[in-house]
Amino acid sequence: MDIDKAISALRCENDLTLFDATTGETKEYWTLRGLSKEWYDAHEFCISALTELQQYRQIGTVDEFREAKERQIAEKPDYEGDGYADGQLVYDTWICPNCEEHYEVGYDDQEYCPKCGQHIKHEDWERE
Ligand SMILES: [Zn+2]
Repeated sequence: MDIDKAISALRCENDLTLFDATTGETKEYWTLRGLSKEWYDAHEFCISALTELQQYRQIGTVDEFREAKERQIAEKPDYEGDGYADGQLVYDTWICPNCEEHYEVGYDDQEYCPKCGQHIKHEDWERE
């Protein structure tokens, strides 16, 4: 059974009304079965929870959400340099800590990695 069928079955049972021959009244199916209002509310809650789960599954998996959330936490990149100025190594490349893509310091200093979306916390000296 998939979510659609489960929601449909639960909703159908909740919405079903039957004629009660003993009283001559139309009653909800769950009351005729002797089930409590608490049971009905739990049933409604299940329908609501499954509907919400269905919406989440349409946009991604739990692992995908977890990865996206983790990429929102700013991380410092690694820096590389291959030249010297005044005897000091000049860093001209920063490397994304998530996907290891290389970018040029001073030109590609985006707040988020363009390739994977990792939030980057650049060093203050890089912005000077
Ligand atoms: Zn990246």
